[in-house]
Amino acid sequence: MQGFQALTVETLAERLASNAALRARIGERTARWRVREVGDGNLNLVFIVEGEAGSAVVKQALPYVRLVGESWPLPLKRTFFETNALIRQAERDPGRTPQVFHFDADQALVVMEYLTPHVILRRALIEGRRLPKVARDLGLFAARTLFRGSDLSMETARRKADLALFADNVALCAITEDLVFSDPYFAAEKNRHTSPQLDELVAELRADRDLKVEAQRLKHLFAANAETLLHGDLHTGSVMVTDDDTRVIDPEFAFYGPMAFDVGMMLANFWMNYFAQAGHEANGDRGPMRAYLLGVVEEIWRVFCAEFGRLWRTERTGILYPRALFEDQGDALAAEQALDCVLHGVWVDMLGFAGVEIHRRILGLAHNADFETIEDPNLRARCEAAALKFGRHLAVNRSALQGLGRIAALAERLD
Ligand code: ADP
Ligand code: MG
Ligand code: MG
Ligand code: MG
Repeated sequence: MQGFQALTVETLAERLASNAALRARIGERTARWRVREVGDGNLNLVFIVEGEAGSAVVKQALPYVRLVGESWPLPLKRTFFETNALIRQAERDPGRTPQVFHFDADQALVVMEYLTPHVILRRALIEGRRLPKVARDLGLFAARTLFRGSDLSMETARRKADLALFADNVALCAITEDLVFSDPYFAAEKNRHTSPQLDELVAELRADRDLKVEAQRLKHLFAANAETLLHGDLHTGSVMVTDDDTRVIDPEFAFYGPMAFDVGMMLANFWMNYFAQAGHEANGDRGPMRAYLLGVVEEIWRVFCAEFGRLWRTERTGILYPRALFEDQGDALAAEQALDCVLHGVWVDMLGFAGVEIHRRILGLAHNADFETIEDPNLRARCEAAALKFGRHLAVNRSALQGLGRIAALAERLD
């Protein structure tokens, strides 16, 4: 066993040369390997390696948060969680993740398929690209991974063992628990926002009793409802796309939590991109892009519900809602009634998670490029203010909201 050492562009080929499986994939002549560092994420190192036979991506954790530096330590074990999540997601929704080639626990590295010519979905949306397949693919991914990782489907002993395995992902859960659910609502040290333009609104949100209670109820749900294996960081920066392929990457935050969390985070990131469009209009009118984005949100939710329902009828093999009580007694309608209750629960909670995700991306530590690439601070603040109000509405009124048509109309009014 070798102590952990961070890879560099210069050392990677030599360090991984002894791995026969990698040589077979990338090329036997390791001196010919071309290595580039591409990591643009907040946490880890990512390298692309190309050789005479093929290519791969090498992702390595650092013992600290890359965005912040050594002052914020973070366990190397996150690569273990990422690898295990990728393996499970590949079983549950085949073809939707990069294939895993190799995992090294001591070096905290995972070698996986190099996705090319894919680009990060968030970047494509900022450029105004309309991806035709992404909504359907993401709706299917969410339904399949969330359903098949839960007690609706899994053998419960297996699920409980898996729950124990992922329960150790404490540090990454803590990031979400603090950064998403608490920091945006007080003057936390790591926060930043567009100032002074947003100062007044920020003060209003921090004084908003209903919002703070709702954010903590959502945090309670996140921490205490170990319902299924989540991706845990399912934003548009964790999706890579071409016009006809959609891949989900970066599940290092994976753990057992509420289904609605992944769905809400995903929709929140499309809504934020919607509110950011006004800041990217210099190169042409973004009206059609806005309509596309609201359509994507509706399609993701529609596909999610349809696929979840299909799995409910055909793969409900776990301990929950046993067929013995419903279909086996000739009462298929009872099973449909239970399905509606479950989906309604996901709907209500998903809206809440979306609301706080929008807030934390504008008020917290980890901002996103949708808004950050709007250079004019006045214009950026106008986009962000609309999104903040929208997020507040979702989080506080989630039980009363009447469907995505109403929500789209609200977004249009605020925009
Ligand atoms: P982090 O955990 O630090 O956010 P990511 O897994 O999101 O790291 O990867 C950072 C970047 O590296 C991505 O935004 C993408 O540009 C690139 N990348 C990651 N995985 C792949 C892959 N399998 N194929 C191609 N590019 C990738
Ligand atoms: Mg990432
Ligand atoms: Mg990230
Ligand atoms: Mg990550």
